[in-house]
Amino acid sequence: MVRRIYNDYLNGKGPNRIAKELEEERVPNWNGKAKWYESSIQKMLSNEKYKGDALLQKTYTVDFLSKKRVVNNGEVPRYYVEESHPPIIDKEIWEAVQLEKERRRAFAEKHQIQKIDYASGDHPFAGRVICGNCGKAYGRKVWNSPDENLRRVIWRCNSKYQTKGQIGCDSRHINDKLLYSAFVNTYNVIVENKDYFMKKWTE
Ligand SMILES: [Zn+2]
Repeated sequence: MVRRIYNDYLNGKGPNRIAKELEEERVPNWNGKAKWYESSIQKMLSNEKYKGDALLQKTYTVDFLSKKRVVNNGEVPRYYVEESHPPIIDKEIWEAVQLEKERRRAFAEKHQIQKIDYASGDHPFAGRVICGNCGKAYGRKVWNSPDENLRRVIWRCNSKYQTKGQIGCDSRHINDKLLYSAFVNTYNVIVENKDYFMKKWTE
């Protein structure tokens, strides 16, 4: 489940949708109940325990009789132990999630969006074409016509016609074929310059 949550996040889903889908599938949480919160998914996505590290003394005991514990805000030392136990999540995936969290946070701030959730459908481009104008995902639409030559598939910003009769975002649509060739071109550039990109990614 932890691996799935990390993958879902990297595939564009927001913590809110991840929680909702787990509930719909009746997946039990740590408590045995099929109840998931956005906030717990968010915490899971930054918990260093999953990559095999441990931050010790996140909380500490203030009263040994009642065993009352409080959050350690620096009152007592904290220790960060690397590779303290076998990881569930590869370090690279864990770091990628942290980078993606930071990227979405900055993006949401810039475009003043509350929640970022790109995933929709199972088309390879679904949730991966992001509007440069408003920050929402592009969706696939079929422009139908009785004339087969005029029928075409396009991608356009999901907030373009969010309210009927009103233009929510004035970005342009993209022809499906153009999107494919743009993807293939970009992919080939990356493969041809893989030494350069691998160095960047490793950094
Ligand atoms: Zn837009």
